[in-house]
Amino acid sequence: MATIRCRRPMRRWWPGCAISSDRLGCLQIGRRGGRMRHLKSLVLAAALALTAGAASAQAWFGAPTPGPVSPPDKPTFHAGPASYGPAPAHVRPADDARGALSGEKMMADVRRIVGFSLERKAAGDLLYGRISGLPGEKAVVDWAVARLKADGLTDAHAEPYVSEAPLWLPVSYELRAMTDGSPDVVLASAVPIRNRTLKPAAAEGPLVFVGRGSAAELANVDVKGRVAVVNVVPDDSLFAAREKGVARELEKRGAVGVINAVESPGNLLYYDNRYGCDAAPCFLVGGDDGAFLESVIGRAAKAGKTVRMKLTLQAEERPNLTAWNGVATIPGMSDEVVIVNAHADAWFDGADDNADGLAVQLALADYFAHRKEKPARTLVFMVSGGHHTAVGAAAFIKAHPEIIKKTVLVMNLEHLAQIAVTQAARLDPAAPGGYESGVWTANTTETTKQAGAVNAGPYVWALMGKASKRYGVVTSYEPTPSAPGDLGAYIRAGLPSAQLISSEVYYHSSGDTPSTISVPGLERAAAFYAGFIEDVAKAPREKLKGPPPAAPGR
Ligand SMILES: [Zn+2]
Repeated sequence: MATIRCRRPMRRWWPGCAISSDRLGCLQIGRRGGRMRHLKSLVLAAALALTAGAASAQAWFGAPTPGPVSPPDKPTFHAGPASYGPAPAHVRPADDARGALSGEKMMADVRRIVGFSLERKAAGDLLYGRISGLPGEKAVVDWAVARLKADGLTDAHAEPYVSEAPLWLPVSYELRAMTDGSPDVVLASAVPIRNRTLKPAAAEGPLVFVGRGSAAELANVDVKGRVAVVNVVPDDSLFAAREKGVARELEKRGAVGVINAVESPGNLLYYDNRYGCDAAPCFLVGGDDGAFLESVIGRAAKAGKTVRMKLTLQAEERPNLTAWNGVATIPGMSDEVVIVNAHADAWFDGADDNADGLAVQLALADYFAHRKEKPARTLVFMVSGGHHTAVGAAAFIKAHPEIIKKTVLVMNLEHLAQIAVTQAARLDPAAPGGYESGVWTANTTETTKQAGAVNAGPYVWALMGKASKRYGVVTSYEPTPSAPGDLGAYIRAGLPSAQLISSEVYYHSSGDTPSTISVPGLERAAAFYAGFIEDVAKAPREKLKGPPPAAPGR
């Protein structure tokens, strides 16, 4: 099959590209053109077929080279003008006359919160975001506290805390692909991951593709002295559920470097410590760069050649950084406390992680502060300095034993309103076989949230299930006795804790932008938590604590 280079690498819809022959080449079928265009395509295809034998002499064996990092203001999923968009929400409480829980209002806050990350990007931070202990996090916590003050909450203030672990940051780095007779390709989406040495690292070796790096895939592959490329496929609902330390295992087997290539839309930056190595330089790259590596490794082998990769990395550690929490209160009829927590820190833009959680938190504070009746229990709003690098909740627990003593439940607002984007087939009568595969596409609702509660009894699970059904939030089919994310320190302190959370393909990436946030989804999440808070505020304390029911025997 002859291939014609598309304007963009595939795994992403583009006019004129219908189906791929590998992860980079596209067969042009001219479905939008008339007969002349079809004829032109045939002539061009025939010409390419005649020159196919010369492909090995072309730069990079004929594979198109990847482009820059995907621009943040354009969706990287299929979103044409005919898109339906997310299903509307009709769930705002009747007494929300001020529109505190309006999706549009929360979306404006999401954009403002993401703006704090973009300021750091514009300031030139290599690994940008609202990183705990750096200026982006301080700015967003101060802004949130000002909002809580303006809504009349009691004692709204920011609290400093010193990060227990030093912050690891890259200073300079590069991934350079090389092969004889082709210009070097520097991968634009490369991001180094923290390792356990600060020595400047430089490694070079031939590339070897190891699939997902399972024991079966590694059984017959020699990675010694080579740079391993791992195909990372994000799990639905929980991004790295299958990640079990593949990069470190490859390093142990002698790989001089590891490139974790995320199968993602576009060419996105990723950062996640779970993909790091001990001493070797190890990186994450986005979809287009990963597809390029997979393609050229195959093409080079066919041509009897090798592709080499040069990895360079210089990093630093910043100890004793000061990070910030924001705290404010709505006094209730009882002095028993429900903590409403949302983390303010983020890697990159962090629209779903966690600008939407913070926007919902501020909306709930506005809503409950302006109601005629006090809530049944006191609500403490905790804008957490985060858990990625400096643990805000641990500092809060230490600083406020008087609040912790009275706390009946912590609810955590995290990753609440991202559009569900998956790599799927798309029906298209013009495509061979009637469908186009590997297309990044969205459905009309949001990602599936893991409904979880720890140190909390079945009563809490039932309340969450009730709220989910009432407000249309998509959750896991059954609750889970686990709650990852910002709840860790609360759980370790023995507090009953509950949340909805999900992390999908844009998790910890530069693709986690406002264009992926569902406005009705914000409204569904806010109504869910408003209802849940109200139910929890009235529930008997003894019903809120306790272990989950025994797992069914299966
Ligand atoms: Zn998060």
